[in-house]
Amino acid sequence: MTMREPRTSPIVPSYGERSLAELSASILASLNGDADGNVLQLPPAPRACLLIVDGLGWELLRAHQAAAPFLSELAFNSTPLTCGFPATTVTSLTSLGTGLPPGQHGMLGYQVAVPGSGRLLNGLRWPDDIDPLAWQPRPTVYQRAAEAGIGAVYVAAGRLRSTGLSRTAFRAPEFRAARSLGALAAETLTALHESERIMVTAYHGQLDEAGHEYGVASRAWAFQLAHTDRLAEQIAGSLPPDTMLYITADHGMVDVAPADRVDFDATPELRDGVALLGGEARARHVYAEPGAARDVLARWREALGDQAWVASREEAVSDGWFGPVDDGMAARIGDVIAAAASGGAVVATSREPNESRLIGMHGSLTAAEQLVPLLAFASR
Ligand SMILES: [Zn+2]
Repeated sequence: MTMREPRTSPIVPSYGERSLAELSASILASLNGDADGNVLQLPPAPRACLLIVDGLGWELLRAHQAAAPFLSELAFNSTPLTCGFPATTVTSLTSLGTGLPPGQHGMLGYQVAVPGSGRLLNGLRWPDDIDPLAWQPRPTVYQRAAEAGIGAVYVAAGRLRSTGLSRTAFRAPEFRAARSLGALAAETLTALHESERIMVTAYHGQLDEAGHEYGVASRAWAFQLAHTDRLAEQIAGSLPPDTMLYITADHGMVDVAPADRVDFDATPELRDGVALLGGEARARHVYAEPGAARDVLARWREALGDQAWVASREEAVSDGWFGPVDDGMAARIGDVIAAAASGGAVVATSREPNESRLIGMHGSLTAAEQLVPLLAFASR
């Protein structure tokens, strides 16, 4: 983070109004005629499909209209949502799955401290000794749908069937595996055609993978987006009658140049007094050693300058970064939160060698990461 750019303001997610939590809750409400719960005022319909495209930020979509003509047409008259903080998959998928902001569902980042244990929980590599249902006890939108007599099906790659995250975030009554883009469309459509009242969620993860690996400025990313556009068009083209298709994303992404990376493992001012480094490069949860929180906050502010919004836990909570925070959840949040304010990142080349090599990254409160599409398509 050597380049100095003027400080901008963080985009605090619009919890309760226009965030991912309201999307899934409003879809369920649109299916069961619950006008009060339909915060986004989605049209009533007996069937709905939610296509989640991992990593398809609103600004990225707007910048790639030629690669994604179908999605861009739908985007033309739409308004984006904010995804939530951190702008990361485990947090956003749980917001979608529960209809709750991060401060209430408790999936507060890619890696967060397990309070009292001295270790981190990585939401994508769930440890055997932590029960996902104890970590996130709130019922999911899918469970609520099933209780209301509405079918609830989740379609994704088979390896995602029974991960800790899927049990934390979805607990869908029915999971259908799809090994390819074509199978994802086919399984999604089959499920929709099988039931008169149903909510089908399809999850596509390859665009995010392309962004991390090659960068969002790469041809690989743009070509992958074109496949994603075709996927959405195929689903839209074969929907049963009276069906709404919604398309959204869990977060956007930015490419982080090598010169804009600060290495935690090689920077003593950042390491001093830190017991655990959580989160990810653009959204760090920093857990201080006992009594060191104020000094860590001051040193991180000094070291990162204008390149990050650095807040104490109390400041981040009172500024609404996580939404309303339930009592039991606050201890999972870092003593210090560092959210990248421009194109930089705090990598950790020793403890996170793989993550530190990624080109595209996400997590923070910039428009490129926070804004995600809310596209809607109604079948005839
Ligand atoms: Zn990602």
